[in-house]
Amino acid sequence: MIVSQCAPDCSKSRIRLDEDSARSPTSTSQASYGLAVADIVIIEDEPRIREAVCRSLIELGHTVRSSGDGLGGLRMVMDEAPEVVILDLGLPDVEGGEILKMLRAVTEVPVIVATARDDDAEVVATLDAGADDYVVKPYSAAQLDARIRAVLRRSASSGEPAPVIAVGGLRIDTDRHEASLDDQPLELSRKEFELLAYLADNAGTVVTKRQLLADIWGQPYGGADKTVDVHLSWLRRKLGETAAEPRMLRTIRGVGVKLVDPGT
Ligand code: CA
Repeated sequence: MIVSQCAPDCSKSRIRLDEDSARSPTSTSQASYGLAVADIVIIEDEPRIREAVCRSLIELGHTVRSSGDGLGGLRMVMDEAPEVVILDLGLPDVEGGEILKMLRAVTEVPVIVATARDDDAEVVATLDAGADDYVVKPYSAAQLDARIRAVLRRSASSGEPAPVIAVGGLRIDTDRHEASLDDQPLELSRKEFELLAYLADNAGTVVTKRQLLADIWGQPYGGADKTVDVHLSWLRRKLGETAAEPRMLRTIRGVGVKLVDPGT
């Protein structure tokens, strides 16, 4: 199967240095919004176009990977959890419109459809199927970049938690990446911080491990529940509680976990 024809070139050109933040949907969308760069996956079968688009987006500072067919692209999106997908409609294995539906079943990543087809009915159908934007070939790199920045702005403003989240004695400043409990600063790893901010942002609501894997670890297909369990237990220790005697972090057996205000 063709996974990607120009990915090796694009991968070599990866310019993002902060690998940790590149793995995290929340922090990357914030970081990228500030820098106006993004992790991008391009699904395009025409090598000339694919390579030209890769090259110009990399020159603009984006991190770019590409696939020459639909299913390889789908897998790449699952594996890499990019912030933006650029999707051609005419693909050799599966129609781009079908790939879009498959993507929409598992991820909310912004998708910009880029294609030579420009009839109105198809544009409308593609947007209705869940595309965030649509560019008609030939398009300039500047136009594509402007559209990428626009979808990033939209996804940042809809998906970002409030800058400061307060639940009980817990205070989380998502801009400054600082958390405290009863005015005592918490020393948290990046993932612990993201996990705590996510749970606090959804305080009082049960969050499933699958949701956490998708939103914190970028694994929408699920993965090792152990990853979540281990981070929850570290977090619990730092909050000064135990699974046997929970205070804020309540595990709902077989369902997930919720963060509650112990004062209510
Ligand atoms: Ca094509």
